Amino acid sequence: MNLGAHMSIAGGLPRALERGKAVGCSIVQLFLKNQVRWAGRPLTAEEAAEFTRVQAETGIRTVFAHATYLINLCAPDEKEWARSVDAFHDELLRAETLRLPFVIIHPGSHKGAGLDAGLERITAAIDDLHRRTQGLGVRIVLENAAGAGNLVGSRLEELRGILERVREPERLGFCLDTCHLFAAGYDIRTREGLAATLDAFDRLIGLDRLRAFHLNDAKKGLGSGLDRHEHIGQGQIGLEAFRALLNHPRVGGLPMSIETPKAEDWDQRNLATLRALRDSGGAGLSGRGSLPPSGRGARSGSGSSRGRSGGRRSGRS
Ligand SMILES: [Zn+2]
Ligand SMILES: [Zn+2]
Repeated sequence: MNLGAHMSIAGGLPRALERGKAVGCSIVQLFLKNQVRWAGRPLTAEEAAEFTRVQAETGIRTVFAHATYLINLCAPDEKEWARSVDAFHDELLRAETLRLPFVIIHPGSHKGAGLDAGLERITAAIDDLHRRTQGLGVRIVLENAAGAGNLVGSRLEELRGILERVREPERLGFCLDTCHLFAAGYDIRTREGLAATLDAFDRLIGLDRLRAFHLNDAKKGLGSGLDRHEHIGQGQIGLEAFRALLNHPRVGGLPMSIETPKAEDWDQRNLATLRALRDSGGAGLSGRGSLPPSGRGARSGSGSSRGRSGGRRSGRS
């Protein structure tokens, strides 16, 4: 299976894996350090070794990271931009040490400088980071934004704008968040609506560049621009979008993480809801079954994660 949740690293990075296992995650998303601080303690070799050991023990197949929220790669101010690039570089190195395949980041805010200025800033940031992480396995993955204010990346055309500007586009991946799509005006409530959105993504960016999904229902309506996550099936999106996504022949096997409100046993309940949607309700988007998730060619095999070409390491031991 490819379903999991964002889990807390309170008490140490390996604790996120144990928490994930306890609620039935097959995959886990985590922060690499306290998400509201610029600096973090250095990652020690012991911690990294413990992380790898606990990952094997828990059997969590795929673990990936989400960048801290302070980082703004679109920042017009030179100092803030440089600080952001340095902080994200540090996170990419941490992820590499932990052998994580990628770190997901929101493009950021142009803060009123305009979309073109924002695209130019983030392109320069990604080029710089690609240069500084040359030869490493870890990848930068951009997440679509919900859309309010000066945020860059709520329209798929804006994500494409970044892709076509960077010097090494083959190293860049993408993550789609269902709540953000819906808040940005993409009506994914029906199978047809979801298919049209994924078609647009395929045309503009390419489904083969997708590395993960964030599965969140939305508290607010279509096009609200508001980033408010709701429990699966309890918000404005409803279950059909998730059913279609989970059974989609091309992207249904990608890692999918919920980022829904944490209270009581809601992680278990949301994951159970999603599991029940898989392989149920008919034929999925287009006659499922030809590509079972476990048999996709996307995995790079087990054992050493070095030297694979796709930037994905879901098959690590
Ligand atoms: Zn998200
Ligand atoms: Zn969000």
